[in-house]
Amino acid sequence: MSIIYRPTGMAREYSPYACNLYIGCSHRCRYCYAPHTLQKSNADYFGIPEPRKDILKLLEADLKKNVYTEQILLSFVGDVYCDNADNSLTTREALKLLNGYGAPVAVLSKGGRKMLRDMDVFLQFEDRIAVGTTLTFLDEEKSKKWEPFASTPSERLETLKILHDSGIRTFASFEPTIEPDESIALIKKTLELDCVDHYKIGKLNNCGSADKWQDWAKYLVDCVELLRPTGKQVYYKFCLRKLAPNIELLPCEKNPDLYNVRITGDGNQISFL
Ligand code: SF4
Repeated sequence: MSIIYRPTGMAREYSPYACNLYIGCSHRCRYCYAPHTLQKSNADYFGIPEPRKDILKLLEADLKKNVYTEQILLSFVGDVYCDNADNSLTTREALKLLNGYGAPVAVLSKGGRKMLRDMDVFLQFEDRIAVGTTLTFLDEEKSKKWEPFASTPSERLETLKILHDSGIRTFASFEPTIEPDESIALIKKTLELDCVDHYKIGKLNNCGSADKWQDWAKYLVDCVELLRPTGKQVYYKFCLRKLAPNIELLPCEKNPDLYNVRITGDGNQISFL
């Protein structure tokens, strides 16, 4: 079995391929789906994860055997820049391998400044990489309550700005949106800072009744009114769209793969489309 795999279901909307380097995470987000998906207890999942056994060997074997022209996401399980047992050295080595084999990659993390340690490797990818973070709350206290051991909102925004100003393509995941007003305030902040190229917007899912009080149709309208005039690349996830079926979206706002990093044509031409 390839260590790089095709996600299914809701995860497929995020990326055509993914690779999980660590199984576990120190961030302890209250909405984390991973323990349930992996059928692990919270105690087994949340902690200081080790890299997966032989992960770099397995990754290299996979890359030798297969050519990837579509985006590989690091990662769905765990966060490659959480507090892990090897200080994210495996992340760095995996990125070097992926770059060496010419693969297109997206990195999603709430690790904040820790991501910047690998700036030199990100830059080596040139146009074949996008680096992003999840933005949930502008309010630091609320962020702490929901994502207690992840970086603060201000650190995530600052990191995006540094990456963007260094010429790296950036993206922000607004999934989960927990309080629409907080997400709208964050979108405004990212526009003010001009630090995000691509927005992925969804809602809170699989978290009991915590998503029941919000007006999701209004949230979608507010996002469209805010973002469409800017010409930014935006994808609205199906879970949000289906709750507001009367709101007309552009085809590009409903195409999950349009803004992914990929390689087209003869393998030399790189395009974000
Ligand atoms: S960062 Fe992701 S994997 Fe880690 S606890 Fe939060 S939701 Fe789970």
